[in-house]
Amino acid sequence: MIKLEHVSKSYTAGIPALNDVSLDIEEGEFVFIVGDSGSGKSTLLNLMGGLDTADSGSIKIDGTDIVGMSEKDLSKFRRNTFGFIYQFYNLVSDLNVYENVEVCHWLGDKSIKIDDILDRVGMAEHKKKFPDELSGGMQQRVSIARAIAKNPKILFCDEPTGALDYKSAHDVLEVIEDIHKKSNTTIIIVTHNIAIADMSDHIIEIRDGVVALDQHNDKVL
Ligand code: ADP
Ligand code: MG
Repeated sequence: MIKLEHVSKSYTAGIPALNDVSLDIEEGEFVFIVGDSGSGKSTLLNLMGGLDTADSGSIKIDGTDIVGMSEKDLSKFRRNTFGFIYQFYNLVSDLNVYENVEVCHWLGDKSIKIDDILDRVGMAEHKKKFPDELSGGMQQRVSIARAIAKNPKILFCDEPTGALDYKSAHDVLEVIEDIHKKSNTTIIIVTHNIAIADMSDHIIEIRDGVVALDQHNDKVL
């Protein structure tokens, strides 16, 4: 589903944020990306998600090389293929929970009902509330609903629990794990929460811009 070959990226000349990264992610995998702050995790996610451009190498998504794609084609591809979840929720404060998900819904699969999506993230009973009436964990669950409303092939999550307390973080990760179990979505998550690493199919550790570990978990079912 995602194949990187010899991908490098520098923001400052001579200081690589990513240096010759090659990796393979299969369709439907639940991938954890771990590593110290500043090691290059967000850079890696942003390159795979077409939000930033590589200096060299190739990045194939579902067979399509996105390096060198025009910005117009890339933004269409991104819209149709990816969902993004960040540490901060970026909900529209003037819209209620239902409407926040609805604004993304037109982009995607109309057969998915907004009420069903809200149910999946445990927010159906709060659908009339506004973001400032919700806890951080609840807001993050709405942003997950918004990301999956377009039924993306790949869901990128960059430290989705980074601003949450332990219990809310656990709830959010459970929602993400549930999406993984019930759909064929490929999920790539940057997290410091090693305690839940046994949920993953595949762990990639980034250290100083290189892949330090690339390990598949054989889960006993
Ligand atoms: P992580 O997500 O693992 O904390 P990042 O990918 O954000 O790491 O950053 C990797 C390196 O690239 C760091 O040294 C960081 O300072 C640098 N970097 C990231 N984004 C930018 C940017 N937009 N401009 C300049 N330097 C950046
Ligand atoms: Mg980061």
